Amino acid sequence: MKVTMDPALRDEIKAALVAAIGDRKVLWKPSDLLPYAADNSRMRPDEVSKHLPDIAVLPESTSDVQAVVEVAAEYKIPLIPKGGGSNRTGMLIPIHGGIVIDTIRMNKVLEVNIPNLYVTVQPGITLKELEEHLAGYGLALNQEQGSFKVATVGGSISTAGFSRKYQKYGIISDRIMSLEVVLADGRVLRTGPKVLYTSTGYRLHQLFVGAEGTLGIITEATLRVEPIPESAEVLMAFYDDIWTAYKAALRMTESGVMFVGADLSEPADPEACGAPPGKRAALCISFEGTKGEVEADVGYVKGLVRGSGGFLAGKDDAMLFYDEFTKLWCGDRALLGAEDETTAYVPTERVREFYDTLWDKIMPKYGMVPVPGNKYGIDVGRYSMSYCRFSIPERERGWEDYRMALAEVAGLAVALGGSISSCTGVGLKNKDELVLEFSDVAMETMWKIKNEFDPDDIMNPGKKLPKRKGGRLANGIGPAERKM
Ligand SMILES: Cc1cc2nc3c(=O)[nH]c(=O)nc-3n(C[C@H](O)[C@H](O)[C@H](O)COP(=O)(O)OP(=O)(O)OC[C@H]3O[C@@H](n4cnc5c(N)ncnc54)[C@H](O)[C@@H]3O)c2cc1C
Repeated sequence: MKVTMDPALRDEIKAALVAAIGDRKVLWKPSDLLPYAADNSRMRPDEVSKHLPDIAVLPESTSDVQAVVEVAAEYKIPLIPKGGGSNRTGMLIPIHGGIVIDTIRMNKVLEVNIPNLYVTVQPGITLKELEEHLAGYGLALNQEQGSFKVATVGGSISTAGFSRKYQKYGIISDRIMSLEVVLADGRVLRTGPKVLYTSTGYRLHQLFVGAEGTLGIITEATLRVEPIPESAEVLMAFYDDIWTAYKAALRMTESGVMFVGADLSEPADPEACGAPPGKRAALCISFEGTKGEVEADVGYVKGLVRGSGGFLAGKDDAMLFYDEFTKLWCGDRALLGAEDETTAYVPTERVREFYDTLWDKIMPKYGMVPVPGNKYGIDVGRYSMSYCRFSIPERERGWEDYRMALAEVAGLAVALGGSISSCTGVGLKNKDELVLEFSDVAMETMWKIKNEFDPDDIMNPGKKLPKRKGGRLANGIGPAERKM
């Protein structure tokens, strides 16, 4: 592992950064930079820990970030904003070296506005810290990602984070009222007033949703919050198999009944979760609201379950399953062995075809096998997701086969009218497949946006967008030549 920059240049940049923000906030020793060489993604074995940033900084304020960006802009060196580091697609790997902007110290709550139901925060606060803070006011953000203990507000916005409370509360992109962003030339952009909707300017804040740090650095976010509901309940229903359960779940969403989230799976040991013999699929549904609302909605869904051949688990089993699922969802899954996952968005009527093709045709061809209990993971409702987790074979061609399988699954999701990645973004992992999903005109428009915001390509370069042919599009749009 080596630091990529010319040592004299690195010393010069280090000195400029220390002068700008103080040496307490600048890291340059290789041992301090090591944690920034990887994130939560699966890397090609010979690439692991190969890429070190040249420098990392720990800003505490917008003006610190501005000062760092001004130095990077002057020298035209890459900048990689970092939140909790939990992304799974290589968004943080410093493939071109440069400066990591670690937002860990930018974790302050700046304003809680109860009458207008919003909170303004710095980007490095974790979703968990924010929920705990808001609970003191009887409020909640409800952005419950599996990674919420470590994922930050800045990271969640920049990856278009999915929340398992999607049905009732939406996802992070629905909750953004305004952002403050330091642009690639050091100017500060405020995307608009702190309002949930407006019919005036372009919705600039949406450009930063899922931008993966390639357009600017979010330094402040104002987000819609909700009062904590009076009552909450979890219902669990078991079915013979996943497709009978899926049909029942669709009937529930079509009925218009309000639930918070609904997840469908085939647990590794259904009986241990309270299922009677022979029932393999579990549908776990959560509800929140006033006591009366929850009672009515739960009663209604119980009727639907009984009418669709489902078996209702007891309250204790349902809670136990939900807690176990939460543990898995919120952490254990981060301990990846030779495994990975897909998170495609597939139109409702094609979901079965997606899984059948994936498990019967694509995965066996490349030797990928489902991780027990993770063959299916379907979130049902307005933000549906078709998840699965698989083991990667340990053999010589393991990596190539894994990449081929990913590419075919991506092609399948797109061919069925869906999207390659509904929650894990693009990073390095999915960028070559992006062209399957978007037309030439759409890709060119994205490059134009990137070019407008970041003409020197210093903002997390090499991520999110595939390389343009020959480094440039036919119309000449391309990154300016680097000085180094
Ligand atoms: C166990 C586990 C469960 C997960 N469950 C979910 C889930 O339920 N839903 C979901 O959506 N994802 C999930 N993920 C994926 C991941 O946690 C999310 O993508 C998360 O939102 C990333 O946040 P982070 O703070 O860790 O960002 P990081 O990994 O630090 O960064 C992600 C991207 O955001 C950019 N970025 C970070 N901060 C800023 C900033 N201030 N300004 C501009 N760009 C910035 C980075 O440059 C990078 O490109 C899970 C991951 C794990 C390991």
